[in-house]
Amino acid sequence: MKTFVHRGQITKVVFGSGTRSRIPEEADALGSRRVLILCTPGQADQAAKMRDLLGAAAVGTFAEAAPHTPVDVTQKALAYARSVGADCVLAIGGGSTIGLGKAIAVRTGLPQLALPTTYAGSEMTPILGETEGRRKTTRRLPEVLLKTVVYDVDLTLTFPAAISVVSGINAMAHAVEALYAQDRDPVAFLMAGEALDSLTRSLPVIARRPDDGEARADALYGAWLAGTCLGTVGMALHHKVCHVLGGTFGLPHAETHAVVLPHVVAYNTPAAPEAMARIVQALPGDDAANGLFDFAGRLGAPRALRDLGMPESGIEQAAELIVRDGYWNPRPADRTAVRAFLTRAWAGQTPWTSPGNGHPQTDSVSEHSITTGARHA
Ligand code: NAD
Repeated sequence: MKTFVHRGQITKVVFGSGTRSRIPEEADALGSRRVLILCTPGQADQAAKMRDLLGAAAVGTFAEAAPHTPVDVTQKALAYARSVGADCVLAIGGGSTIGLGKAIAVRTGLPQLALPTTYAGSEMTPILGETEGRRKTTRRLPEVLLKTVVYDVDLTLTFPAAISVVSGINAMAHAVEALYAQDRDPVAFLMAGEALDSLTRSLPVIARRPDDGEARADALYGAWLAGTCLGTVGMALHHKVCHVLGGTFGLPHAETHAVVLPHVVAYNTPAAPEAMARIVQALPGDDAANGLFDFAGRLGAPRALRDLGMPESGIEQAAELIVRDGYWNPRPADRTAVRAFLTRAWAGQTPWTSPGNGHPQTDSVSEHSITTGARHA
C-alpha cells in the first residue's frame, strides 16, 4: 500500500449547457448584490449578455483583461471596482481574465465567480501569475481559489478551432505532468488519465467541427479535470520550460505548451513508466512522446518554437534560466540536456526518443530523485 495525501477542492462547480443562467443565483448564494464583470476586449459581447442577465445585480464591466495579468491593468481594475462598490467579481473568459479576477481578489478579499471559455484551467487553481514590467512572478495562494465556477459549454462554441486545439493541448500538459508529479495521488492520477482521454477524443472533432456541442462538452470536462490536477499537485519540467519561454521571449502561452510537451515527455520517458503507459492509453501508437507530437501535428498545432517568434540565439539563455532554480522533475535536467531538446523544439523536429534517450545524460535516471518543492504554473 502506498501512503498519499490528497487535497480536495473547495470550489463549487456547475457544468452543462445553458448553465450561465444560474449565475444570478450563484452570486446570490455568495451574498453578492454588486457584481463586477471582467473580460477581455474581444469578449465584451459575452460580458454584455451576462450584464443583461444579472440586471441590477451587475454594477459594471471592466473589459481590459490582458495576458499574464499586468499589475498596471489590475490597479486600474481595482480603482474601477472601488468606484462602483463591487462586492464580487465574475470573470468571463480564459486564463487572462480569470487571472485578473484572482489579482483583484488577493488585494480586496472579494469572492470570485467564473464562466471559463477556454481550456487553460486557471479557474481551478490557487495559482496567481502576475507581470510587472517584463518580470512574471507566480505564487500559490489559497485565498485566490474561486468560490464558484460555472462551466457553460455554449460559451465555448465561439472559441476558434485553431486556438481551441492549442488550449486543449495546454490542458493535456497539466494532466501529463500530474501523472508523474512528485506529490501525485491515486485520485489526481485518475483525473489526469480521464482528462487525457476526453481531450484526445474531443479535440480532433473540434478541429473539424468547432460547433459540435458533444465534443465541446467532452473537451471542457477534460479541461476542468486537468485544471483540477494543476491546482492540486505540483508541476515539473514542462511547466518550468513554458514559464521561462513565455516570460523571456513573450511567446504565446498555449502554443508554447503545444510545441514543448512532446519534447519534455520524451526526456522524462525513461523515468516515469507508469505515467507514460497512461498517456499511451489515450493516444494511438506505443510511444507517449511521438504520440503527442503526431496528435498535435494532425490537429494543425504549431510544432516549432521558431514559428512562435523565439530567436535561435535564445536557446542557450533559456536552458540556463530553466535549470537555474532547483525544482523537481522525475528525471534530473541539466543545461546540456535542456539545450538539446530545446534545439529540437525550436526547429520543429520530432522528439528524441531513442533508447536511453540519446540526450546528453544527467547521471541518475530515477523517479522522484530531486526534492525542492517549487511549483510552476
Ligand atoms: P486567454 O485568456 O488569454 O484567451 C485567449 C484569447 O481568446 C483572448 O483574446 C480571449 O478573449 C479569447 N477567447 C477566450 N475564450 C473565447 C471564446 N469562447 N470565444 C472567443 N474568444 C475567446 O488565454 P488562456 O490560454 O485561457 O490563458 C492564458 C493565460 O492564463 C496566461 O497568462 C497563463 O499564464 C494563464 N494561466 C494561468 C493559470 C493559473 O493557474 N494561474 C493556468 C493556466 C493559464
